[in-house]
Amino acid sequence: MTEKRYWNEKVETLPRHELEAYQLQQLREHVAWAYEHSPYYRQSFDAAGVGPDTLESLDDLRKFPFVNKQTERERQAAVPLLGDMVAVPEEDVVFVSASSGSTGMATLSPFTAGDFDDFQDAEARLFWAAGMRPRDRYVHALNFTLFVGGPDVIGAQRLGALCIWAGAIPSERLLHILKEMQPTVTWTTPSYAWFLGETAKKHGIDPATDLAIRKIIVAGEPGGSIPATRQAIEKLWNAELYDFYGISDIFGACAGMCAVREGLHIVEDQILMEVLDLNTQQPVKPGEAGELVLTTLRKKARPMIRFRTGDIVKEFPELCPCGRTHKRFEVLGRVDDMFIVSGVNIFPSDIEYVVRNLPGLNGEYRITLYRENHLTKFEIEVEKDDLSASETELADQLSHRIKSRLGVRPAHVKVLPENTLPRATHKAKRVVDQREEQATG
Ligand SMILES: [Zn+2]
Repeated sequence: MTEKRYWNEKVETLPRHELEAYQLQQLREHVAWAYEHSPYYRQSFDAAGVGPDTLESLDDLRKFPFVNKQTERERQAAVPLLGDMVAVPEEDVVFVSASSGSTGMATLSPFTAGDFDDFQDAEARLFWAAGMRPRDRYVHALNFTLFVGGPDVIGAQRLGALCIWAGAIPSERLLHILKEMQPTVTWTTPSYAWFLGETAKKHGIDPATDLAIRKIIVAGEPGGSIPATRQAIEKLWNAELYDFYGISDIFGACAGMCAVREGLHIVEDQILMEVLDLNTQQPVKPGEAGELVLTTLRKKARPMIRFRTGDIVKEFPELCPCGRTHKRFEVLGRVDDMFIVSGVNIFPSDIEYVVRNLPGLNGEYRITLYRENHLTKFEIEVEKDDLSASETELADQLSHRIKSRLGVRPAHVKVLPENTLPRATHKAKRVVDQREEQATG
């Protein structure tokens, strides 16, 4: 028997016009649900003069107001525990995740039993697209404590893989599991995949030959979509990298790479995507960068209508050769991480792209932002992996390549010996912003 190519062939390969007709019908029902059951949405739609009847086409969604993390926080504080964006009584809620709360109070994301079922079906679909099969052993090494990615392991179980619930454990223990149980798939951040591979080597384990990992799912940082970063991790592990995208406000993963690995397919029968210009909030042209705005189509507990994610993405305008008709995008960075130099928008991932492609460097880098004569300047520190290379030459080459890719030059480039920059375990801190300190001190 030939193996099926898709988790849900009918849904994943629906012709665009049928998919869009289905989305419109779902959206109408979902907006009506939010309007009838969520005090917040009723008030906000009334104030904007919109409602379920506004939606004659998908484009009419643009008439609806945005929500964001701040809205979630405010509504939760106003109406504890879950806030009044919620559209079901608490007794119908079976699961909540919470965001890390690094920039304010943690926001909770509630699910009904039906939402949770949709969530795990979406995860199974994304795992299948990334090539996970029932014969795989999957080690789930994400945090289980309140984190929305924790339960994704259930999606892998639904798919039929043998699942190892490791959670966030010390790297030595995780390496022990990788060695003893020889799992074939895991999920982590790009920084941690690198760190874990390097740690393995220090313990005399070669991840490429002593371990069985053949697929690494990554999320949480843009690295998984940067070719040179991806290739470096793949070489270290002798495995393929698949980038996933999730947010605590919706699903542990909302989108993921298929075998083609050009962009991440969004689960478009459940979540609508818009890509909007940062200044005008109008749709950008296909292929241009903009902020990702997501709208749920079914999540009953707390509908998300036009949620501004703060992530900058670029949509792939063409259909994917894999046969899936659902849209694909690439994550470029966070709005918050973007900085502007001489009028040019720069993401740390742009710099990473150049650093990882320059022979003689080991790929580590740190960007420092500072002000000089009221202008933002940036300095880059990198490490060389070739002892014989000239530091001045490497610095000149890097500066030149950044200028030709981005149109602006770093104020300084420092080429350092290996192992000088601090190493990250989970999410890497690549940007040091000294502009605020300068302003206050
Ligand atoms: Zn595809």
